[in-house]
Amino acid sequence: MPLGEFDLIERYFRRSSRRRDVLLGVGDDAALLEVPPGRALVAATDTLVEGRHFLPGAPPRSVGHQALAVNLSDLAAMGAEPAWALLSLSLPDPDERWLGGFAEGFFALADAHGVELVGGDTVRGPLVVTVEVLGFVAAARALKRSGARPGDTLHVSGWLGESAAGLATMIRGAAGDTSDDPLVRRHLFAEPRLALGRALAGIATSAMDVSDGLLGDLRKLCTASGVGATLELDALPLSEALRSRFPSEECENFALHGGDDYELLFTLPADCPVPGEPEPGAGGSPRLTCIGRITAGGGVRCTRGGVEVAISGAGYDHFR
Ligand code: ADP
Ligand code: MG
Repeated sequence: MPLGEFDLIERYFRRSSRRRDVLLGVGDDAALLEVPPGRALVAATDTLVEGRHFLPGAPPRSVGHQALAVNLSDLAAMGAEPAWALLSLSLPDPDERWLGGFAEGFFALADAHGVELVGGDTVRGPLVVTVEVLGFVAAARALKRSGARPGDTLHVSGWLGESAAGLATMIRGAAGDTSDDPLVRRHLFAEPRLALGRALAGIATSAMDVSDGLLGDLRKLCTASGVGATLELDALPLSEALRSRFPSEECENFALHGGDDYELLFTLPADCPVPGEPEPGAGGSPRLTCIGRITAGGGVRCTRGGVEVAISGAGYDHFR
């Protein structure tokens, strides 16, 4: 007897509420949520399509994690505190093993950050997962892409390129089990940099999360701010785990053009010290690396040891 839509929601997605600001959650026509006075509501949504954003047959726990993580990363990039999520699921035949794994991955990350699932939609169709997250930030402290100024220093959190290298490992090693590979784990279980984003709120002049490759994302930040940047390639944070497995040119490509890093790219006023930040959870603190400087002219110039070099290639674009 296949699981019906309502049983499915009951069994996997309805839980008793843990947040007092959820006046009404899953089960009614809509959720009723209380926004704290004096703070702006921050909203973001992202869709994952099987075969495009995750490999067919990806571990369901990783799909649940990723669907929420990519959205929490957007809130981190705004300096916001997440509160609530909505989940729209399009599923082929409901597979209970898949749903169990998906819900486990989703709620493990939700619980780690105090996020409550307050509603959604469930339909039959190709495997597509859309999550929306809602949170708050004091509007004056929100981190935008548009505030970078010439002379600002440019920084990134964590290691770049590991996720893209993990994806390449999964694709190339399709026959074998790669689930214990640390680079593959980085790809499947990205950690949104929420604590860092909140520490930067009101301090960084601009910020965004790196989801489509550093170079393309930096260009977006520069365009939004009406500035340019120099990016020092020798400063790119490439981990030992990455460098020990791939030639240096490939590591740099993963960092510049790969995607799914979910690190924060941000700018600080020239004389501003880099804020220390504690990141809770097993991952420990992400290191912060200064990778360049904002300039007055438009466009991104890459340098190696201070000397300008030409770099080709672009970030991920669905319609190119
Ligand atoms: P409606 O017909 O009003 O759209 P639904 O039958 O789609 O209501 O959903 C019933 C309730 O279950 C609603 O509160 C909705 O938000 C919630 N819901 C549906 N699907 C999900 C899901 N995948 N995760 C969480 N809540 C869900
Ligand atoms: Mg509905």
